[in-house]
Amino acid sequence: MPPSFDVRLDDLTGARAESREAAQDSDSILAGPPSELGVNKSPTRQNQRYGDDASPTRQSQHHGDGAWSTHPLPGDERTFYIETFGCQMNVHDSEKVAGVLLGRGYQQVETVDAAKLVFYNTCSIREKAAQKVFSRLGEFRKHPDHGKVIGVLGCVAQQEGEEIFERAPWVSLVCGSASYSKLPTLLAQLEAGNRRVTGLDTDTDETFETEMTRRDNPFRAYLTIIEGCDKSCSYCVVPYTRGPERSRSSASVLEEVRKLAGAGYSEIQLLGQTVNSYRDPAPRGKTFAELLVTVAAVPGIRRVRFTTSHPRDFGRDIVEAIDSVPALCDHVHLPVQSGSTRVLRSMQRTYTREEYLDKIALIRSARRPISVTSDIIVGFPGETERDVAETLSLLDAAQYDGVFAFQYSPRPNTASLQMGDSIPEEEKGRRLAIVQDRQREIQVARNNELVGQTFEVLVDGASRRPGQWTGRSSSNRILNFSSPRSDLLGQYIQVRATGASPNSLVGEQII
Ligand code: SAM
Ligand code: SF4
Repeated sequence: MPPSFDVRLDDLTGARAESREAAQDSDSILAGPPSELGVNKSPTRQNQRYGDDASPTRQSQHHGDGAWSTHPLPGDERTFYIETFGCQMNVHDSEKVAGVLLGRGYQQVETVDAAKLVFYNTCSIREKAAQKVFSRLGEFRKHPDHGKVIGVLGCVAQQEGEEIFERAPWVSLVCGSASYSKLPTLLAQLEAGNRRVTGLDTDTDETFETEMTRRDNPFRAYLTIIEGCDKSCSYCVVPYTRGPERSRSSASVLEEVRKLAGAGYSEIQLLGQTVNSYRDPAPRGKTFAELLVTVAAVPGIRRVRFTTSHPRDFGRDIVEAIDSVPALCDHVHLPVQSGSTRVLRSMQRTYTREEYLDKIALIRSARRPISVTSDIIVGFPGETERDVAETLSLLDAAQYDGVFAFQYSPRPNTASLQMGDSIPEEEKGRRLAIVQDRQREIQVARNNELVGQTFEVLVDGASRRPGQWTGRSSSNRILNFSSPRSDLLGQYIQVRATGASPNSLVGEQII
């Protein structure tokens, strides 16, 4: 979902450099911020960041990817560890959960071993992602005397519900993402000695707002403006796991943005599964485009991003806002899923190939060049060679700056489950590779055209190699660059691109 361009800065340290740990769970990734892809090992630290759209490589302190040391430490009574899987929305939910816990006097620790409370914030968008959490939970079987309180949060919690207690009897809390507002009550029940507590309603009209959110990135703040999803794409579990759409009032969004600006954040990323379907609940409330403009006008805010946009609700007003307000980032993540109208219909995506390409034309008609990224699913039930060819020709027509491509994964409670899973995994893999190869060629050509251009970059990572830094442009491109200066983290500087790879640019600071 969210787009970013790739990173590959394995040797980076510091406030991030969104690396793509995320990719671990994705079948493909060519560029882009991942969203629900990966694992974001948690202990969120101030200057190391996420795993999803980019994750600041979080060198997990946890023993070998979820494994336990042979003798787990008992941990203090009020300590917690949280590991996040999945999209930026999950990453941000974990920040809010951490805020709730810190507000109750808990201290965040960086290993399972050191924690009394261990939370997994889960993703079930594809089967591989959902399996990961059960493998984490399985580790506790080897340590029956661990003495910890284990909680499963998020989409797998919602999907599996109380069955998690059957599969992993050592779990004490199961709470779906639509019920996070109940978390303080659930925690109080655990503290009172309850062995099993659940929050699994999806019919709430509340959004998850907390007094305190513990943000991991010192420069960019995530802010959810709409939760849940009212679309019904036939392959997708999100409406089931996150419940119906609920928008936050523009007044409360703005109040939080002002606080964030006051705390030193200069970049805001507005989040929602379909962020541009935002409907201000206030009477005569703001449209999404109006909200973007108002957020961008808050003193101290230099960049405003938003993800993910649904093509059906993407209109001219958003392009006009980006055109007229420089603080609105010149990047749109607009997932298409398939280039074939026949498949799109079967996916219940509510637009045709032609209608989608009209939206791309609208974006390309802007006065400012706007980078566009997308998500694609290959191997949807009944997808033919001809459909794949249409997806390839759509890549040529759209000229994306990044694409996340995924192999179709049948999910529980979705309409497409009834369609079977007609494309063998091997064939899905072949189609995925074809899509990736074509998109790679497109990105190589597009990025080469950028060599020689100058970008304003927000520096968010430093390499171990002296004088090497990384940052992102407004268009969400990653620039790895050299500079003789020190203390660049968090600064906006000018960088000239001197070289290109499919997923990033290299450059040098203009001094
Ligand atoms: N709301 C966004 C939209 O409509 O484009 C997408 C959000 S979804 C969490 C992120 C991406 O995961 C989707 O764009 C889709 O490409 C992919 N995805 C969702 N369900 C999937 C499935 N069952 N199999 C494979 N990929 C899937
Ligand atoms: Fe899933 Fe479709 Fe909603 Fe996106 S719009 S979250 S793909 S149901």
